[in-house]
Amino acid sequence: MVEMSFQYHAEPASDEIARRAWSDIQTCREVYNHALTQRYHPAPDHDKPSYTRLQNKIPDWKHRWSEWGDVYSKCLQMALRRIKHGETVLDGLQANGYDVGRLKWKAPKEYRSITYNQSGFDVDSNTGRTAHATVNFSKIGRFHLTYHRSLPEDGTIKQIHLKKQKTGEWTVSIVVDYDPDHPEKPAVEDIDPEDCVGIDLGILSFVHDSDGRAVDRLDLSEDRERLAREQRSLSRKQHGSNNWERQRRRVAEVHQRMTDRKDDFKHKLAHFYTHEYDAVFVEDLDVRGMLEDGGNARNKAEVGWRGFIHVLKHHGERNGCRVVEVEPEGTTRECARCGVESEKPLWVRTHSCPSCGFKTDRDRNAAFNVLSRGLSKLGVVHSEGTPVETALPADTRRVSAKRVVEAGSPCLKEPQKAASRQG
Ligand SMILES: [Zn+2]
Repeated sequence: MVEMSFQYHAEPASDEIARRAWSDIQTCREVYNHALTQRYHPAPDHDKPSYTRLQNKIPDWKHRWSEWGDVYSKCLQMALRRIKHGETVLDGLQANGYDVGRLKWKAPKEYRSITYNQSGFDVDSNTGRTAHATVNFSKIGRFHLTYHRSLPEDGTIKQIHLKKQKTGEWTVSIVVDYDPDHPEKPAVEDIDPEDCVGIDLGILSFVHDSDGRAVDRLDLSEDRERLAREQRSLSRKQHGSNNWERQRRRVAEVHQRMTDRKDDFKHKLAHFYTHEYDAVFVEDLDVRGMLEDGGNARNKAEVGWRGFIHVLKHHGERNGCRVVEVEPEGTTRECARCGVESEKPLWVRTHSCPSCGFKTDRDRNAAFNVLSRGLSKLGVVHSEGTPVETALPADTRRVSAKRVVEAGSPCLKEPQKAASRQG
């Protein structure tokens, strides 16, 4: 059994339902704040109230503040669970050397969701309309979902989170327990080195692979300009006014759009690689982070790659593809054909081996090394010659990120193999 979360855009069936949902979320917030500041923080460290002890107080509190009784009871309990969850997160941060304070009282805009656990909801995905489902939340009412992706058929719904995003849009996340019917990954002895690929997380391109694809970074310059414009406009508005609030939403929307575009790009790339190959090799970024000086100087590119590797592993599980991380040290310096190392400053774009004369794009040489290391690590027997020799000649084909987003896999597949055979 695995647990997976499915998120949908949601639309309240009426304004009244939207109002009730927000009001119930805010009641959960009050319960959270009350339990935290009146019960949890005042207790001495060795005797913090357990979740059950807090939960047992709910009937008393409802007696004192009758409007708390308007919320589905289980939701109030789930609000209290956030205290324990928050503590666990803080402990984790502290264990990693972060200077953490304690859990804080939450303001309305910091508390935006309500959780239904096991009961109090009714999901209907047979509404007779395509890409449409509804969820009826007890004590709130009905929400329409943009049901672009079906829930697993034999799944059990564990939990539903209803959230009002900062943009003002509603989302519903359905957490399902199910038995995944994923294709088996091929056995190592059945993997052909030709069905494997090494990916270099490049400097100029986003990725550069051992089959000669160089995929550019996603161009977000227009979004960034728009974001700067909207933020400037926000700073000129009076804080808290209606105009300010409207502008704040606009800023949140641009942020959201950028996140969506980046996610879409990574998913399409990962989909392609995990469908096309039996095994995909990438550098181990955790090791790479340690090799580079100033461990905290994580640049933006690295954040993007981490996200990509995460998505790649996820797709690998679903598509029966092995995703293996390899030792990153020296992938750029080493010659992929003869193994002799030569220093290359960042601005040197070509690998030209002083020892054997092998010449190719700098990032492609690194991708070949990633491929060799992956094959060795996985234990795939590659008969005669290095992967470089079987994959030569080393032409590079650039693919723009825009095309990946617009056309998906086909644009990555195009005459790749054919072109390299002619050369
Ligand atoms: Zn060489």
